[in-house]
Amino acid sequence: MSSNEYFPTIGLEIHAELHTKSKMWCGCINDPFVGKPNVNICEVCMAHPGTLPVPNKEAIKKTIQVGLSLGSNIADFTEFDRKNYFYPDIPKGYQISQYKLPIVSGGNIDGIEITRIHLEEDTAKSSHDNDGYTLVDFNRAGVPLMELVTEPVIHNAKDAGNFARELQRILRYVGASEANMEMGQMRVEANVSISKNKPSGNADKNNFGTKCEVKNLNSFRSVEEAIEYEIERQSAILDEGGVVVQETRGWDENKQETFSQRKKENAHDYRYFPDPDLPKMYLSELFDIEELRKEIPLLPSKAREKLNSLCVGGGISEILIDNIEALKYFFSIQPESEIFAEKGKFAQISFNYLVTDIFGLLKKENKELSINNFPSISSFRTLIEMIITNELSSRGAKDILVEMLSNKNLDVRKFAEEKGLIQKNDTEALKKIVNEVIADNTDKWNDFKNGNEKLLMFFVGQCMKKSSGSGNPQMFQEIIKSV
Ligand code: ADP
Ligand code: MG
Ligand code: ZN
Repeated sequence: MSSNEYFPTIGLEIHAELHTKSKMWCGCINDPFVGKPNVNICEVCMAHPGTLPVPNKEAIKKTIQVGLSLGSNIADFTEFDRKNYFYPDIPKGYQISQYKLPIVSGGNIDGIEITRIHLEEDTAKSSHDNDGYTLVDFNRAGVPLMELVTEPVIHNAKDAGNFARELQRILRYVGASEANMEMGQMRVEANVSISKNKPSGNADKNNFGTKCEVKNLNSFRSVEEAIEYEIERQSAILDEGGVVVQETRGWDENKQETFSQRKKENAHDYRYFPDPDLPKMYLSELFDIEELRKEIPLLPSKAREKLNSLCVGGGISEILIDNIEALKYFFSIQPESEIFAEKGKFAQISFNYLVTDIFGLLKKENKELSINNFPSISSFRTLIEMIITNELSSRGAKDILVEMLSNKNLDVRKFAEEKGLIQKNDTEALKKIVNEVIADNTDKWNDFKNGNEKLLMFFVGQCMKKSSGSGNPQMFQEIIKSV
């Protein structure tokens, strides 16, 4: 632990592979996980001489839609640039990226400001085998890749992790990326520095300390752990009167520490320049931006508002926010207008049965929490209505749920009637049962009447048994007390 207090500053750079049919500059299938190396390749993504790139409109569109979802500005004029460097995973000798004129600038997630989002191409994947050979798989080369950069305005590990989590949700809601971090579809780099004085805002860059950039973070947890580690490491250096060296560091998951990868004393000179093979673009001529905005589905922040208005908001409902199919299903089972007097009653009860019972049963059977495994909308709705109107006890409802999972379109009412699960709320019918139970247990009844109150639950139990579980226990209690 450091003895002095320092002020941490963090900025994130996040890459996400876009979910498009084809690659960024050619017609090859965009599927880096096809399982066999070098099958989704062609002359263009292998950089054969004389080939020319053709921009993928779908990728540009998705980048714009991500920007619109973050409240960003969409550039009117934009262009692609060559970022020159030499490495086997980049066969052209340069990566096509964007430098001065990114497609998206500004915007924020929960107040954390975004600098820019630009579009580029992913590189091939190198694997280094034990014999000292490096194998290169070009399935990933030329896959559309967006890069989002935040302002240095994050001040702790948790906020950085949460920013990345929320971005992942937004990418998935928009359908821009599957954004699975373990698969490398989303990659986070964290820039971390500490300073003695708190900079007075993000323009006050003179007061920032020297940053280190941490790469290969392939889970949200490692993002947070690596940032915490860096804050501690840099604090220890400053405590001893040393200076932090600007460098790129990796994250060692096993050792739970960062390690130096390359010093960045003389920054890379990528000799960026506009790619003469690609057209300059006026985005408002290529797209109807307002149409693209309308196409954006419900976003996580709006979904949370909607859940709140149904009285099922708060931390517990994040389970639905993280499962788009279940979220849509939940919204679709809600009646158009609240048909039961108490606000949110239908929502709360259906939420509990979905999240606790249905999710629980599916998990027990190792089934996915997806729409094909949920009961049909009308069956589930009927079930909830019958619970609210007291026609079903929670015991009966659970039996029906089990049946509904193997028979999605179950006629709930008919099944409940056949199995005798309809709760008897008819006072006369219940009174008859109570009288029968009393007649069968006269000794105990006298005891009860003489003040042995413990026997109340015995009588309720007997009545429930006699009604095969279909009587309303609350009503039995009241009747027994009033006899
Ligand atoms: P570089 O030119 O070294 O790539 P940039 O200015 O492009 O640096 O910033 C890259 C990322 O680093 C951004 O996310 C930015 O917010 C962040 N960053 C910049 N300066 C700092 C700092 N002193 N501490 C932490 N993060 C920083
Ligand atoms: Mg950078
Ligand atoms: Zn190709």
